[in-house]
Amino acid sequence: MDYEFLSQEGIPDYIRSRPELAGVVDPDAIVSITEVGDGNLNLVFIIEDSAGKSVVLKQALPYVRLVGPEWPMTPLRAAKEAHALMTHSALVPELVPVTHFYDQDRYVIGMENLQGFRVWRGALMEGLRNEGVAADMGTYVAHVAFGTSVLAVDAEHHKELMAQSINPELCKITEDLVFTEPHDDIGRNSVLPENEKDAAEHASDPAMITAMGQAKWIFMTRAEALIHGDLHTGSVMVKASSGDEGAGESRAFDSEFAFYGPVAFDLGALWANYAISAARWFALGDDDMARWSLGLIEQTWESFEATFRQLYPKRLDSRVWKDELLEELLLQWREESWLFAAAKMSRRIVGLAKTADIESLEPHHREGAARGVLNLARRAVRQRTEDSRPEKFVELAQSTLLEFRTE
Ligand code: ADP
Ligand code: MG
Repeated sequence: MDYEFLSQEGIPDYIRSRPELAGVVDPDAIVSITEVGDGNLNLVFIIEDSAGKSVVLKQALPYVRLVGPEWPMTPLRAAKEAHALMTHSALVPELVPVTHFYDQDRYVIGMENLQGFRVWRGALMEGLRNEGVAADMGTYVAHVAFGTSVLAVDAEHHKELMAQSINPELCKITEDLVFTEPHDDIGRNSVLPENEKDAAEHASDPAMITAMGQAKWIFMTRAEALIHGDLHTGSVMVKASSGDEGAGESRAFDSEFAFYGPVAFDLGALWANYAISAARWFALGDDDMARWSLGLIEQTWESFEATFRQLYPKRLDSRVWKDELLEELLLQWREESWLFAAAKMSRRIVGLAKTADIESLEPHHREGAARGVLNLARRAVRQRTEDSRPEKFVELAQSTLLEFRTE
């Protein structure tokens, strides 16, 4: 795996070498090249020319950037990301950035620069209310769920797509970090000293372990659709139509974890991150913003359900796939969303990759927020089979996060 990394100096020539970028950005009139990668995995450059045109070049390094060359990671993940971006964009072009090309020799994706957009997590952390984004993400997940599944793809082609989309290294990260390590620490977990008891109780909670066993099984065996695979609020960019909040546009990006997996994994990831945003705002005493964050759970679900219902009549084969299957799938995904939300909440509190929503709280407030999220996960896996309506999850989240917040 010997290939040249992108650099400020090399980028103009690189752009010249890519016919797909002709007219996109002018390599002879570049005014800025900025590296904006948030530092976890890849190099991400934004290149702008004097006419205001721009492009993003994202290059996979052969290791995890956060850790360094001692944690090797296949750069082929860029191919998976490019494939997912293009597949998803064909289904919902308004919610995915445009991909200009994928360079298989240097593991570079050339894509649309989302100008004027910002990462949703940062906006949420500032208390900005970008309306419609949660619904957009439900729409996105529904289109992916339907459009990449056997409901919409011819059976033979579907199998080729599945084979083409296997992503073992990135799946292993999820299998280890999300499902296993919160209950079997191999030295990567950490919490505040005040939360050590909470983490220990969570780690050895039998109901939680059983549930995570089920979740991991579903994740590893249920190849329903070409899911995003890492759909947290840091994988969504938002832009308000005027000012910095209110209605606007959204895009799902950073899909390098994409693979044929369970649809509810993406929904649960969103729910978990909305609950984490709520935990932050309850901790900071802005209960209104916390409730607004929790309201996103229902918005994502409702739009997912409505969109999937709209798409279902277009299925290729309705001989045995009747309306009963539609109802069964929706019910199953709703219940599994609780399960995956619990998994995602836990790992973000005790595991390696935490969230800025919680980590940026000062320790006194962080303690209660972390305890609230861990207890929410433990309660969610117990209650999901009773009544899995998203409003029930919201109720549970609100009461649990309020119960444990530190005053
Ligand atoms: P990584 O997987 O290494 O974290 P990301 O795809 O998340 O890489 O990109 C890192 C950051 O770069 C994002 O958080 C965002 O700020 C910025 N970014 C990524 N893609 C785009 C894009 N198409 N347009 C504008 N900014 C982007
Ligand atoms: Mg990222």
